[in-house]
Amino acid sequence: MKNSLETENIVIIGSGPAGYTAAIYAARANLQPVLITGFSSGGIPGGQLMTTTDVENFPGFPDGILGPELMDLMKCQALRWGTKLVEDDVFSIDTSARPFSLKTSEQTIKTNSIIIATGASANRLGIIDEEKFWSRGISACAICDGATPQFRNAELAVVGGGDSACEEAVYLTKYGSKVHLIVRSEKLRASATMIDRVKNNSKIKIHWKTVVKKAKGEDWLQKIELLHSEDKITDIDIKGLFYAIGHTPNTKFLANQIALDKRGYIKCNPGRPETSIEGIYAAGDVADAEWRQGVTAAGSGCMAALASERWLSENQLSKPITRDEKEPEKLNKKTTLKNEDANEETFDVKSEWQHGSYALRKLYHESKKLILVIYSSPTCGPCHVLKPQLKRIVKEFNGEVLGIEIDIDKDQEVAKQAGINGTPTVQLFKDKLLKKEWKGVKQRSEFTSVIESLI
Ligand code: NDP
Repeated sequence: MKNSLETENIVIIGSGPAGYTAAIYAARANLQPVLITGFSSGGIPGGQLMTTTDVENFPGFPDGILGPELMDLMKCQALRWGTKLVEDDVFSIDTSARPFSLKTSEQTIKTNSIIIATGASANRLGIIDEEKFWSRGISACAICDGATPQFRNAELAVVGGGDSACEEAVYLTKYGSKVHLIVRSEKLRASATMIDRVKNNSKIKIHWKTVVKKAKGEDWLQKIELLHSEDKITDIDIKGLFYAIGHTPNTKFLANQIALDKRGYIKCNPGRPETSIEGIYAAGDVADAEWRQGVTAAGSGCMAALASERWLSENQLSKPITRDEKEPEKLNKKTTLKNEDANEETFDVKSEWQHGSYALRKLYHESKKLILVIYSSPTCGPCHVLKPQLKRIVKEFNGEVLGIEIDIDKDQEVAKQAGINGTPTVQLFKDKLLKKEWKGVKQRSEFTSVIESLI
């Protein structure tokens, strides 16, 4: 592909279904869009589907598909057609002059058109001692953290009464001995199928008209204090508390340069992507407090890209690229997405990236190299974000560092021995000694600086 643009045609902010669909359409229109994925602001890259399990209502997948896998496929499709990916947050935009400009942590990008698809972030309750027990029993993502050893056969609780709360409560019954669903009103607002699944599950107990007041424990969450209707207060013993209490749109970085409604969502005319500023469009949950589905977000991403393409061309601003090949090379889905654990026959001491406890044991005992281990679970969205980054880091160090992936669902014993209490957790070993541990998604430089200091 030719030309890198000084002023971009379109910058898309956000990497959920709305952002990636906009990118696919804009890229196929030869506009070589830039997609800024978001990094730590506004949830994880890939959006809310990265923290869900089976998506059973996205057309085209009759047996359902895991949320993170669906997002990986959308990303591959956008990249295949020439989208330029920037793994960073946008901190501010300037709409006072044209072309518009956007500031990330590392650069200022100029662009003629912008599509905002930054979605919405999970809300927190703000109960007493929430900070103390955050990631030590309290989590905003049951789907990411449910497989953690501490939650096995323990009593757990979910707060909320929507589809997320119901889905998470059912999911957690796979791991916990009992799940308390704590609902502040006297009804669930989830879909009828979801409500049936909750009510038919004997491991779920619903506490109506109840709110959580306080988290209690020592190193790990042990109890929560509940306030029931009629001012009755009780404690229940639980090891995990999961929030599923809705979302807030990610519009803070816009600093009121674009018209928002009173809840902070971007104002658009119903069913249209245009915002209050010509050339800037909105798509997905950031402008939609009502439908909030993967498929509606994808549809609105398509509309935003088509509207932007039309506007650029009407204003003679469009600078299409020329392609060397008519159609980009096809991706091999199987090798892109699936991986097998190494065993006696397949283990390779020189391989840069392997899977499973066999490879971990062999390298731990026999290799003199640095070993970077990522503990993940198949439904953990942040793990999907972090793994490709770690793979790139391992490659850059040219065989000095070897990477291993451990699925904590499959290798529970290894996870327990390693003291893993959430995913993703990354551990770096040298000469059988743990040199550093990271929890959650981090900037690449945090890993590379420690690796450099140990080589
Ligand atoms: P919702 O906004 O639908 O529900 C939020 C829930 O949290 C409500 O029950 C609300 O209570 C409760 N809540 C809010 N604040 C508090 C608080 N401070 N204390 C206690 N409870 C509180 O959010 P969801 O994330 O569940 O769903 C968002 C959208 O995504 C929906 O459209 C949903 O249908 C969709 N979705 C679909 C799924 C699927 O199809 N598989 C899975 C997950 C989500 P109250 O009812 O009293 O307001």
